[in-house]
Amino acid sequence: MTNIRYINSKIWQKNWFLEIDSYEKLVYIFLLSNQYSNIIGVYQVSIKLIEVFTKINNVEPIFKKLKNINKIDFYENWIFIKDFSDYQPFKGNKMKQTIEKIFKEIPRDVIDNFGLVEKEFIDFVMLKKPINGIRKEIFERDGYKCVKCNSKKYLELDHIIPVSKGGKSVRSNYQTLCQKCNIKKSNKL
Ligand SMILES: [Zn+2]
Repeated sequence: MTNIRYINSKIWQKNWFLEIDSYEKLVYIFLLSNQYSNIIGVYQVSIKLIEVFTKINNVEPIFKKLKNINKIDFYENWIFIKDFSDYQPFKGNKMKQTIEKIFKEIPRDVIDNFGLVEKEFIDFVMLKKPINGIRKEIFERDGYKCVKCNSKKYLELDHIIPVSKGGKSVRSNYQTLCQKCNIKKSNKL
């Protein structure tokens, strides 16, 4: 994998970046460019290591701050940089295959915790289509399990009343279903 990471100069024109303090800026730049990072911005790095490299004593509150302003998410030793693709110039099918390959190597519980879905995520990285943040919110509400069979595997966000039947994209019309139950439900419709 290439060791080159891009940082778009427009970061210095973004209000949220201008507003955070120097330590927070350093941690964010570290997250974008360190040697453990990958080209999709979802990778493993420990807070301890960040403290060693940045010489900042307590990185945890900085992580919480960056999470609160919706710039990163973290789970165990995994990090997800939410605007990562804004800074990366991705093009072409070969790049898409690489991104798919890296995505497939991420453990399932990490993917579920970050509320990622492969197709949506690939579009997010390649085409910079925003990720619908509601997915994680609904998964959290439903306890990261299928509301029909309690399975915790292959969770999907489902419209209770389908959009094709006039269902709205609002919280009350969403539920968490596993892939199996979702397929069963679509077959009945
Ligand atoms: Zn199910």
